Amino acid sequence: MVVNLVVSRGLSDATIITDSRSALLALENPLNTTPSVSEVKGILQEYIHSIKFMWTRAQVGTAGNEAADAYAKLSTEKDSIDCHLALSKSHIKHLLLQDTLQQWQSCWNTSLKGRAGFELCPVVNLKRLHGNFYINQLITDHGALAKYQGKFFHKDEVCPCGKAVEDRLHLVFHCERWQDFRDKCFPKNFRHLSLLQLLLCKTVRTALEAIMKKKLEVLLQELLP
Ligand SMILES: [Zn+2]
Repeated sequence: MVVNLVVSRGLSDATIITDSRSALLALENPLNTTPSVSEVKGILQEYIHSIKFMWTRAQVGTAGNEAADAYAKLSTEKDSIDCHLALSKSHIKHLLLQDTLQQWQSCWNTSLKGRAGFELCPVVNLKRLHGNFYINQLITDHGALAKYQGKFFHKDEVCPCGKAVEDRLHLVFHCERWQDFRDKCFPKNFRHLSLLQLLLCKTVRTALEAIMKKKLEVLLQELLP
């Protein structure tokens, strides 16, 4: 506001004295791209005269500085705001991230695809991104599971154990073919846990990864002449 005042009056020999060292350092720093700082720099560059800046110690009785402080305090009692500062880059980034997450959540809520994954993780979350090829087949109820093979390649949906359709729940909780893995790697109370809770357990994940690898190997064997 002081710079604008100097410029609007066309003063040719102005010195602006402030007790804000941070404001002076921000103006001096060529790397500072904060919108309010950039705006002042732009005005200074275009102004035909030069304006000097000086720092003064605060609260030592300098008359002009004390008066500026008094006016600054007075302004906090006003109902309206004279000066609107632009949003900072980091705040804009934060808003964009929130907006993107909301759009992602809305798509995830209403999409007709990926419903098996939605059952496990209804709320989108950047920290939960998972890149394991084998575990992802279980999360999505896809890949080497017989139910998926039946749906997309018209194979038998029934598990080789013959007891049920082979989907992720049958494989993880019930199929007798993988009882050894459960005995060795699953927590004792696994039947009281959800699939998601189990997938968060490292030893369980390792066991399930080994099972899915075995299943894929069998499928590939079938393809060989
Ligand atoms: Zn089975």
